[in-house]
Amino acid sequence: MPREPLLTPDAQEGDPPATATAERELLWSLRPRTLAEYVGQAEVVENLGVGITAARRRGEPLDHVLFHGPPGLGKTTLAHIVATEMGAQITHTSGPALEKPGDIVGLLSNLDPGEVIFIDEIHRLSHTVEEYLYSAMEDFSVDLVTGQGPRARSLRYRLEHFTLIGATTQAGLLSAPLRDRFGIVCHLDFYSDEELAQVVLRSARLLGAPAGEEAAQELARRARGTPRVANRLLRRVRDYAEVYHGGAITLAVVDAALAREGVDARGLDRLDRLYLATILENYNGGPVGLEALAATLNEDPRLLVEVVEPFLLKLGFVNRTPGGRRATDLAREHLGVPAKGDQPRLFG
Ligand code: ADP
Repeated sequence: MPREPLLTPDAQEGDPPATATAERELLWSLRPRTLAEYVGQAEVVENLGVGITAARRRGEPLDHVLFHGPPGLGKTTLAHIVATEMGAQITHTSGPALEKPGDIVGLLSNLDPGEVIFIDEIHRLSHTVEEYLYSAMEDFSVDLVTGQGPRARSLRYRLEHFTLIGATTQAGLLSAPLRDRFGIVCHLDFYSDEELAQVVLRSARLLGAPAGEEAAQELARRARGTPRVANRLLRRVRDYAEVYHGGAITLAVVDAALAREGVDARGLDRLDRLYLATILENYNGGPVGLEALAATLNEDPRLLVEVVEPFLLKLGFVNRTPGGRRATDLAREHLGVPAKGDQPRLFG
């Protein structure tokens, strides 16, 4: 089954341009650099603005920040903006990359004063690594144990004051002690169509690709409320416009290009539709457990939970019940699947 590439997060997208390929450099160039350039998420931007201004006036590092929300909404972008606004260095790492206590201790003991550490997918930190973070975040110190058995000794190391920024798509998986150590907690929600249209127009301008207002609005409506998707669709549309229409991005060009990409009028892609059709067809509308559904689709359950389901939940196309996932009548209508018991069937 082909994996829909529009939504899968690009793990390296946050890498600095020095290590980036041309494609990554392009993505990098589309990132807003300051809070003023950042479109949408008004409440988050305002909270961060207040925190940053106050911290700068006091000459202190910003409190630790947690960003949570679906992939592609701007968590990494905001982390870099915070560092820029604070005039601080940023080190970018991720939960799975910090495997051993040595990894986190090495990172913490080499900090510059006020440095920002960004840990993406912070819910995937191992328990032992996480425990080192508790005292580091709270008292800017770590306890190192040397020797073994009766000779074991604990040494306390003082660290430079730093700001930890964590990002997660799964805030519910964070342990309470870790969550409680973040002074600023920001939830990022899907963008409105108007906000996404602004993102599209801004990116089109930066890419030197003229996009009409109507075209930008249509692209925005079909981008799952997600800037990363909007930017990727824009790049596909730009290719199509260059090859077939001399570069002009019009409404008709957006329609034709997105039809080729398999993106429908509500922004659903092939995997979204297959997910819904499988519940409706193979499981009679549900409820079906996550593992069974993932096995039928031959997909990673995490991909379904973190990437596919949040937008379908927002559209009201699927419900999560104690018994499992259910597809709603709205989904049935959207896919044109006949009500239970009616014929014909979509598959098989
Ligand atoms: P996340 O870390 O939440 O997965 P990213 O910060 O990597 O998301 O953002 C994905 C892409 O979307 C980036 O390439 C960035 O250019 C773009 N983007 C995110 N938020 C905004 C925004 N508010 N305005 C403009 N572009 C944005």
